[in-house]
Amino acid sequence: MERYDRQMRVKNIGKVGQKKLLTKTILIVGVGAIGSYAAEICARMGFGKLILIDRDYVELSNLQRQSLFTEQDALDKQAKAYAASKALQLINSDIEIEYIVDDANVTSLTPYAGAIDYILDCTDNFMTRDFLNQFCFTHQIPWIFTSCAGNYANLMPIIPPDSACLHCLLGDIPQTNAASCDIIGVDGALIPIVAGMQVSLLTQMIINPDFKANTYYQLDNWHFSFRSLEVKKRPDCSGCTTGKMVSEVPFSEQTVTLCGRDTVQFRLPNKSNYLEIKQLLAEQKITYKENPALLSFNYEKFQFVIFKNGRVLLHGTENITEAKKTYHLFFN
Ligand SMILES: [Zn+2]
Repeated sequence: MERYDRQMRVKNIGKVGQKKLLTKTILIVGVGAIGSYAAEICARMGFGKLILIDRDYVELSNLQRQSLFTEQDALDKQAKAYAASKALQLINSDIEIEYIVDDANVTSLTPYAGAIDYILDCTDNFMTRDFLNQFCFTHQIPWIFTSCAGNYANLMPIIPPDSACLHCLLGDIPQTNAASCDIIGVDGALIPIVAGMQVSLLTQMIINPDFKANTYYQLDNWHFSFRSLEVKKRPDCSGCTTGKMVSEVPFSEQTVTLCGRDTVQFRLPNKSNYLEIKQLLAEQKITYKENPALLSFNYEKFQFVIFKNGRVLLHGTENITEAKKTYHLFFN
């Protein structure tokens, strides 16, 4: 407990509050900009167990806004969840940390549902948030919606089944990421502010018995403006009254262009068979790199990155036809 002394001196937290934090399991969905900072704050503050899920690997262009990662992680294409868990364990070896290199979806997260106390939404797309909205309603897990792009950030704590949900706030969830930070960018100085606010909300949810949800917060770090709005639960909301489950094919399982990243994503029908892929590459005299989470190789102007779970990224084009042609040179 000694390491948390300065935190326990804070009147609103105290020793009793600190003990509560130490018993909680927090799932952090997305370990990019907001997720890496939020995870670091949670680890230092002493939340008992952190589960990190992220499907991506570290790239040089991430380092401008993402904590915990190094240039070496980018060179080695380390999976973000893995690299973050290593860094966090060095910061606090007293807490438990688990990592998952995969998409956040029904298959990957349902086995954890019973063990998770709270979820931090640190993802960068509304398809995953829509899934989280339904997952958290189904399993009655409190969570905090958080997004940012440019100089703006949005936050809303959601406590199922009684509070307003993401659908109550937004109506229909947008199907495109028009304000994605991949397209309009994001101010690196905004991120730690948002992550700090997100973990502040989380701490209050855990410690403060009078904590009230149903409030949406918006922040602008350029004009230093902040506003909060009351959100009413909609009596006819499909997200928090009927609790419909995701029916469409998840975003992660389609062949899609990742906007602003010059990348097309494919999905192998099964988990990756590295042995078979390595054999194929050896026959064509193509060299590859490998780390605990993925295998990568270059072919002409393209770069392939193949994750263990069967997700394939083809860097070097946003043209689906061209990407498919290249992809099918190697895979069915
Ligand atoms: Zn709702």
